[in-house]
Amino acid sequence: MLEIKNLHAKIKETQILKGLNLKVNAGEVHAIMGPNGSGKSTLSKIIAGHPEYEVTDGSIEYEVNFKKINLLELQPEERAREGVFLAFQYPVEIPGVPSSVFLRAAFNAICRHQGAEEMDPIDFDKYVRSKMKLLEMDDKFIDRPVNVDFSGGEKKRNEILQMAVLNPRLAILDETDSGLDIDSMKIVAEGVNKLKKKDNAVILITHYQRLLNYIQPDVVHVLYDGKIIKTEGKELALKVEDRGYDWLIK
Ligand code: ADP
Ligand code: MG
Repeated sequence: MLEIKNLHAKIKETQILKGLNLKVNAGEVHAIMGPNGSGKSTLSKIIAGHPEYEVTDGSIEYEVNFKKINLLELQPEERAREGVFLAFQYPVEIPGVPSSVFLRAAFNAICRHQGAEEMDPIDFDKYVRSKMKLLEMDDKFIDRPVNVDFSGGEKKRNEILQMAVLNPRLAILDETDSGLDIDSMKIVAEGVNKLKKKDNAVILITHYQRLLNYIQPDVVHVLYDGKIIKTEGKELALKVEDRGYDWLIK
């Protein structure tokens, strides 16, 4: 579904990604771990199409319905319509825009693009509330402006609500677990586990192994200094928990 080859990227004059390779198949959950400042958020923002980063070399190929797409050629909103979703490490507030309006606009834009029928406000309201129930979110969030005056944990849950509503093909979660108490984390994990289907893929960026107690990744990578330096099965997360990153960095 996703193949990243030799990705080099910089922001302003700083080179951050330095030859990153990553391959994710449909149906898989990948975890990316790594010390602070390794380039994890940079990678996620580049996949989503953040305009501040400049890709200087390499490629990102995304395959959807047997169609191969050069992701780097698409605008961020086009990537979203093709089913790419990023839950931000630091979710943004959107004053003046109620979550319900924001979510329905995003949802219907994807429906239009994928040739499916749009949902009217009444049906959409039912649909969103069913998702909120699954995530044990309070109804009041839906009428409030996106993330405005939400606590850190509420913002993270709201990102997962967006994910649940939009049902992305490729979901990238950037440290969605950080700042969450254990109950919220279990709910986030459940949201991810429900998304797991044979034609979807998830990339979980996480600093801690604890989230991986609730979500079983198929593959674990360690990113360091702009490159993936180790790829293994889920046991790698336990090794990192146990021994830190030093033995990998040398
Ligand atoms: P991680 O998510 O793994 O902690 P980031 O991708 O956020 O790492 O950052 C990687 C490196 O890029 C860090 O050294 C960080 O300071 C630098 N960096 C990130 N964003 C910017 C920016 N807007 N301007 C300059 N440097 C940045
Ligand atoms: Mg980060």
